[in-house]
Amino acid sequence: MLTDDVARVLIDEETIVQRVRALGAQVSADYRDRDLLLLCILKGGIVFLSDLMRCIEIPHGIEFMAISSYGAATDSSGIVRIVMDLEGSILDRDVLLVEDIVDTGNTLSYVKSILQTRGPRSLKICSLLNKPDRREVPLEIDYVGFDIPNEFVVGYGLDFAEKYRNLRFIGVLKPEMYTKPD
Ligand code: 5GP
Repeated sequence: MLTDDVARVLIDEETIVQRVRALGAQVSADYRDRDLLLLCILKGGIVFLSDLMRCIEIPHGIEFMAISSYGAATDSSGIVRIVMDLEGSILDRDVLLVEDIVDTGNTLSYVKSILQTRGPRSLKICSLLNKPDRREVPLEIDYVGFDIPNEFVVGYGLDFAEKYRNLRFIGVLKPEMYTKPD
């Protein structure tokens, strides 16, 4: 079982459900009568997006964008690349970036700078998790689910080597799971 690989549950399922519900209510209030577009950063943001959008009570669109960051598996290097761009235009739209986690801030600050050139009416960030101690570039996160300590986490969309995205909670892996067999 995947859950056997987890050393510790950091945020349990019920706590996530409650927090996502609160975020959805906040977004619904803030974006009333606006042209809201949720822009999900793949792949990690997918679980969060699918729950969050069902907690948002106003009409909105969804789009996807895939980013790849180079570097070690558990550390982002700051060098990012658009693997898949979004389909439609964001001109004059109220874009809310939906991300799983902000760590150094490099990924989203890069994505934000690209999207700003495309003329959105507004561009904000909603991240389920935030590691404030790891920040390398200043980045305003408008909606945060949880601030977490500097630990590598998996579950609820977040992976390690493409595993664990389907866990319903956020957890810390057992150290031996990071060492791959030869
Ligand atoms: P940043 O550019 O902010 O340093 O990193 C953002 C990306 O790094 C996230 O979208 C995620 O893919 C990856 N990342 C950072 N911290 C973690 C973590 O604790 N667990 C997992 N699974 N990915 C992380």
